[in-house]
Amino acid sequence: MKQHFYDLTIESLKSLLMNNGFKSYSGDQIFKWVYEQNVTNPELMTNISKALRDFLVENIVFDYMNVVNKQVAQDGTEKYLFKLHDGHVIETVLMNYDYGQSVCVTSQVGCSMGCSFCASGIITKKRDLSVAELVNQVASIQHHSKVKVTHIVVMGTGEPFDNYDNVMDFIRIINYKHGFQIGARHITVSTCGIVPRIYDYAKEVIKSNLAISLHAPNNEIRSRLMKINKVFSINELIKAVKDYVDMTNRRVTFEYILLKGVNDDISHANELSDLIRGINAYVNLIPYNPVDDFDYKKTDQIRAQKFYQQLEKRGINATLRRELGSDIDAACGQLRLKKERESLQ
Ligand code: SAH
Repeated sequence: MKQHFYDLTIESLKSLLMNNGFKSYSGDQIFKWVYEQNVTNPELMTNISKALRDFLVENIVFDYMNVVNKQVAQDGTEKYLFKLHDGHVIETVLMNYDYGQSVCVTSQVGCSMGCSFCASGIITKKRDLSVAELVNQVASIQHHSKVKVTHIVVMGTGEPFDNYDNVMDFIRIINYKHGFQIGARHITVSTCGIVPRIYDYAKEVIKSNLAISLHAPNNEIRSRLMKINKVFSINELIKAVKDYVDMTNRRVTFEYILLKGVNDDISHANELSDLIRGINAYVNLIPYNPVDDFDYKKTDQIRAQKFYQQLEKRGINATLRRELGSDIDAACGQLRLKKERESLQ
């Protein structure tokens, strides 16, 4: 099978070229065509030799993803459903903010982390996404929506730290000076808390942001919500986050979905503030997107506001996240879930 261009980091492209008798500097020329000029037809890459153009045509695939569905919300949020070569479908979302265009990238087909509130885990992990499939979500959205993507959040379906190496190559490609040139500070990876990978991530050269899906102030609630807490307890997780901040000097985000009657009491806000006090971090309070299969309910606005104020009162920086695309959403991952279910029938 031909190799996909988006699988190649600049280093792997250069060694591929050299192994085939071409000059390594052509790697940068080709990257510039593809990522800066949006030219994916080698015949149009006029500053490289005919022999190299022929080599690319023969050995490398440059195509975009196959769009099976696209929904646009009133606020401009666009949700794409892409079909992969083996028939699986993935969801990728483009969000329009005043500071730029942000893409929420999916890292796996399905997810095995089994968080009890999340639609993505209903159909367990089928496989990891390849580097090409990660990069191509961004490339295809830029191509189809005619936008320049400025921010990336790896917060779609899947656990990025369960597909660590591919996600890191993806970051290298989108961050590269002749790749999409998305700055490290504009890239965020979100994890449910795979502790050893947090230490690996701290050592990466490209210092992209880290978000932790915390969702609970103690082990009892967190273990009920998230299976991963039985593997790495909340104390181990918090220790790893502290170490990460010490090693990188970077601020971390804690994500906390407010679930009615589960984790949204003032006492939980107090417990949460004691848990994370002193860490260079802020809490992103997320309104729950109800999922048809589950009984969890969203905390109402007034209660959410009180929770937020309590954190602030106790010296914890927090934000109440604005909901985007709720009219098309029917919850994160649910559009894909519907399609996957149809295809399984
Ligand atoms: N596996 C990674 C990244 C994917 S989930 C992680 O756990 O961080 C991205 C974020 O969406 C996580 O914080 C997750 O807990 C949250 N999420 C999942 N289902 C949700 C829902 N129905 N409503 C709101 N947030 C949800």
